[in-house]
Amino acid sequence: MVCKIEPIEREAVIAKYLSRSLDSEAVEEFEGHYLGCDECFDELRVSERLAADLRVSSFEWKQSGGVSVLQFRVNTELTHSAQELEELRREVLEQSDTRVIIDLSRVTRIDSAGLGQLMSCYSHLVKNRGALKVLNPTAEVQKLLDMTGIGTLIPSFEDEGEAVRSFRN
Ligand SMILES: [Zn+2]
Repeated sequence: MVCKIEPIEREAVIAKYLSRSLDSEAVEEFEGHYLGCDECFDELRVSERLAADLRVSSFEWKQSGGVSVLQFRVNTELTHSAQELEELRREVLEQSDTRVIIDLSRVTRIDSAGLGQLMSCYSHLVKNRGALKVLNPTAEVQKLLDMTGIGTLIPSFEDEGEAVRSFRN
């Protein structure tokens, strides 16, 4: 089958498809087409790989006294629509260290979805004989941790060294 889409148009459609800016009808049309079209299929695979290489993680890990500390690179709202929610879970679950500190100093807002994600990180780590602590939550985030009782499971620290030492108790 020879593709009827002009190369320049193909590029544009694929870029829009990958950035999720096609409407649902156009997505359906494109998906129906590229699966049977070698040219579009190949081009999509290449573009996907490039996009994945460009995507920078929202997180950064560092080691501190044998404990893994996860930091946010920029100010982040951990709310239901944030893509960082899923990323956070993946970051914590897909690494082998079970003694983890999440630095919350750059989390400007959190909602039930964000708290839920912290809890699933907590459950995973505890199940694997580890623990989760948080560092420097804002007053607002701390208030929510306390109100929901999560603060008693996931203790907060203002000092990184103190948080690290708490794992030895
Ligand atoms: Zn095609």
